[in-house]
Amino acid sequence: MQASTAPSEDRTDFATSVVATMRQLGIVGLPRNYEIYYEALSGSNHELSLEVVSLSNRPTQDQLDRIGRKFFPDRHGTGVVEHARETIARELEEIASILRHERGHLEKYGRILDQTAEGLNSRNVISKELLQKIVDVMSVATVSTIDHGKQVVTTLGDKTTELESVKSKLEEYKKLADTDPLTLIWNRRAFDKEIARIYNSNRGILFNALILADIDRFKEINDRYGHPAGDKILQQIAEILRTSTREVFVARTGGEEFALIVEGASADATMAIAERIRVAIEETEFGGGQSPTVYCKVTLSMGICMASEADGPEDLYSKADRALYRSKVAGRNRVTHYSAQPEQAGKNWLLYKKD
Ligand code: GH3
Ligand code: MG
Ligand code: MG
Repeated sequence: MQASTAPSEDRTDFATSVVATMRQLGIVGLPRNYEIYYEALSGSNHELSLEVVSLSNRPTQDQLDRIGRKFFPDRHGTGVVEHARETIARELEEIASILRHERGHLEKYGRILDQTAEGLNSRNVISKELLQKIVDVMSVATVSTIDHGKQVVTTLGDKTTELESVKSKLEEYKKLADTDPLTLIWNRRAFDKEIARIYNSNRGILFNALILADIDRFKEINDRYGHPAGDKILQQIAEILRTSTREVFVARTGGEEFALIVEGASADATMAIAERIRVAIEETEFGGGQSPTVYCKVTLSMGICMASEADGPEDLYSKADRALYRSKVAGRNRVTHYSAQPEQAGKNWLLYKKD
């Protein structure tokens, strides 16, 4: 379910600087905006870089979309969908026309066969010359039909290839729209779709669980090591979560919040997965700075709720979130199950107020 390749060091470093630049300029972190700044900062398209540099300090979404349409006409936002729709419509019209033409051709061939069969069936004595003529006509018509058929097969093959390429472009765009640009794991949009799927699926809600995870005191980490270091930690945590278990859908649902959808696990098994992740994060030395590299400790608080304990996606999220808050007030760096008794998470949890 997750992107299968681990992001390379260089790529994630560069991604971090792209996101930092966008944040400085107050640009909304939409995949299509990210795409523009990624290209502009990489310098691969000089003209695009110049246009981006010439924008005001706070570019509007309209200005960015204009640049997107100009430089990525076939893959920018809705443009990609419109382009795909037009290409598919054009290709299908051509295929229909080829098939109409082919039908006409086959009908003509059919008529020739009928006529020759009629001639052969007639009770009249057929002269050798007439027979030769019938054979010649059939032979020419057959060769032409075979050639024509070969051409049709080749043309339809080309059309299929073009349609396949449109399909893969659409899939690529869909993936981009569902990916968090900083960590390259799923984003909130993808998460919302996935969590809705649990309650819509025929397999039922048994043995599905939601784990919400929030980095502890992340503001302090940012304040101490700087925002770029914080970004790097977010990437490292995403990577640990992504590779923690199979059968888990991992998304970044907020600034320093992650969600894991676990399939096919009991409450105890889900607790065990979350606990394993908690320990893995606690034991990791996070490279938190530039040069010399500063290492720091990071912990996660988590809340769990089984899908069967909730009425629907929102309820599931809100219950897992409540369990997460209980982990926070109980001292952080821990996992709490929604149905666990409040006192198990600490006496003062009801007094906790989210800041
Ligand atoms: P708590 O243990 O209660 O969760 O404390 P906290 O400091 O983690 O929580 P708080 O909500 O006060 O602060 C969250 C911080 O996360 C503040 C914000 O600067 C940081 N943050 C959010 N998104 C990003 C991001 O994309 N990059 C970086 N570096 N920091 C981020
Ligand atoms: Mg938070
Ligand atoms: Mg936090």
